Amino acid sequence: MIFTTEKEICTINGGGCCSPKPKGKMECVECSTEAKAVLSKTLNALLTNEAKESLKSLEGFYYCKTSNCKVVYFKEDIVLSQSDLKVEVGLKDGAIPATLCYCFGWSKEKIKSEIQETGDTEALSDIKSKMENPGCNCEVLNPSGGCCLGDVGKAIKDIKRQLS
Ligand SMILES: [Zn+2]
Repeated sequence: MIFTTEKEICTINGGGCCSPKPKGKMECVECSTEAKAVLSKTLNALLTNEAKESLKSLEGFYYCKTSNCKVVYFKEDIVLSQSDLKVEVGLKDGAIPATLCYCFGWSKEKIKSEIQETGDTEALSDIKSKMENPGCNCEVLNPSGGCCLGDVGKAIKDIKRQLS
């Protein structure tokens, strides 16, 4: 698999966010949902040393974001799960904290308590302003290797629905 460094445009913020993302998609070996390719530097930053030592190469992996699927990364017959990562994968069921934005520390818990206290959340505006300054580092902090805004927006809708 050959990765390009073409930028994936973050549509919510009008583009320009984050990292050059590898192109390519593959169905998850477990849940058959389409999974996106991740950069080797993302795995290098987030995998445990044991997991890294067991792998010949960190290239060519895909990230499964399905909440009830145990697979986090996969390629061919290799499957990596939560126990192979140093960070909690916030989008997976049972994650505590359920971190969504790894750059600026927004979790489902934090968003929920803010909505309960004030009726709304500053999460999206806070993240967007910090993306401009100081800038984000999703490719080595977020297990997805990419922008969290889509996940944050979806979580806010879900939480508001639960609370209403
Ligand atoms: Zn999956």
